[in-house]
Amino acid sequence: MEFGNDIEFARQLDDADPLKRFRKCFHIPRGEGKEQIYFLGNSLGLQPVNTREEINRVLQQWANYGVEAFFQGEEPWLEMHERLVEPLSWIIGARPAELVVMNQLTINLHLMMVSFYRPQGKRNKIICEARAFPSDQYMLETHLKHLGLDPKDVIIEITPRTGEYHIRTEDILASVTQHRDELALIFWGGVNYYTGQVFDMELITRAGHEAGAKVGFDLAHAAGNIKLRLHEWNVDFACWCSYKYLNSGPGAIGGAFIHSRYHHLADMNRFAGWWGYDKTSRFRMEPGFVPIQTAEGWQQSTPSILLYASHFAALKIFSDAGFENLLIKAEAMSRYLYYLLQPVVDFHGSSKINIITPVDNNAHGCQLSLFFPKHGQEVFKKLTAAGIFADWREPGVIRIAPVPLYNTFTEIFEFVGALGNAIADCK
Ligand SMILES: *Cc1c(COP(=O)(O)O)cnc(C)c1O
Repeated sequence: MEFGNDIEFARQLDDADPLKRFRKCFHIPRGEGKEQIYFLGNSLGLQPVNTREEINRVLQQWANYGVEAFFQGEEPWLEMHERLVEPLSWIIGARPAELVVMNQLTINLHLMMVSFYRPQGKRNKIICEARAFPSDQYMLETHLKHLGLDPKDVIIEITPRTGEYHIRTEDILASVTQHRDELALIFWGGVNYYTGQVFDMELITRAGHEAGAKVGFDLAHAAGNIKLRLHEWNVDFACWCSYKYLNSGPGAIGGAFIHSRYHHLADMNRFAGWWGYDKTSRFRMEPGFVPIQTAEGWQQSTPSILLYASHFAALKIFSDAGFENLLIKAEAMSRYLYYLLQPVVDFHGSSKINIITPVDNNAHGCQLSLFFPKHGQEVFKKLTAAGIFADWREPGVIRIAPVPLYNTFTEIFEFVGALGNAIADCK
């Protein structure tokens, strides 16, 4: 599509947007009586208007039935998990039985490590991305210590080449080949939180399996942002949080994917609890753990039904909009953003501003990361003053993520204008 570089064109794109009605499904933050430009859907997605109602329904069930609400009423709590994994299956690209909604991200990663990281002799190495999100690093470090291993002996980090921002797929694959006899696990992010780089999960998974390793992904920045096909790609496990692109609220309930080939394995190592116990006999409360033969078999505790409700409220909007449609709009938005941004970058030059997100459409999602060698903080403050929600990461990176559910092309236009002015003002 040919874009135009005036505000009229942005408005035309918004008028023609088949998803425009979904903006009204969210509470947009306001400042000085005006809707702000919220580009932090990658950090905490905005609140759906229907979240309150869904939570109230749970409160009403509780009020009406007490503990019997698990079994009774218009929406028995025991049936709610099914209503979550159905819409999630489209977003994650998995069968509903391969999904479990439970806990939060970091704890789920520990639980997946228990099942999928089974070091044997010298086959104990883990390949992961350098400078992964800190929680992932701490998870690995402490998990390995718990197993009596020294993280330094086990972790192989892949970095971008000197002078580059992105990790090259060929460098990941070369490392897998190099360590093929001692590799136990590849643990990688679907989308890097800092640069917004999307990784080729299918290729990485195939390479890992050929080397005899398991392959798992952290999808914190991928779930609800990019197209995923975890089942088809043969991924072993994955975990994500639901408060970023999935709009399910601060500290929302997380999720995990476990490929169906593991559901029936009797010797699968795991940390169990009663909520993972075979549903038909759970309430007999007998000794000896018998897992549910789906991803639900990895649950431990009674889930928070209140968190289920806020997750459901958001997933319902994804279903109504259609995830494929959202991906189409997301791609159009980022093409438009790059179209407007490139002249600003060319004009000011790399001493002032650099795009550190890959430009190729297959290699980025909604997020754009910009590196400012000098006046980043000042630019960031000016954007904030202009009513734009972006975020700041040391040593000079501003991240934004226009999302297809509630952001507009006009907002993108206004952002690029404000950015150009902010840079020009920094002498
Ligand atoms: C946001 C994020 C987390 C956060 O983990 P929680 O356990 O949900 O607090 C972890 N890993 C990555 C890659 C993230 O982007």
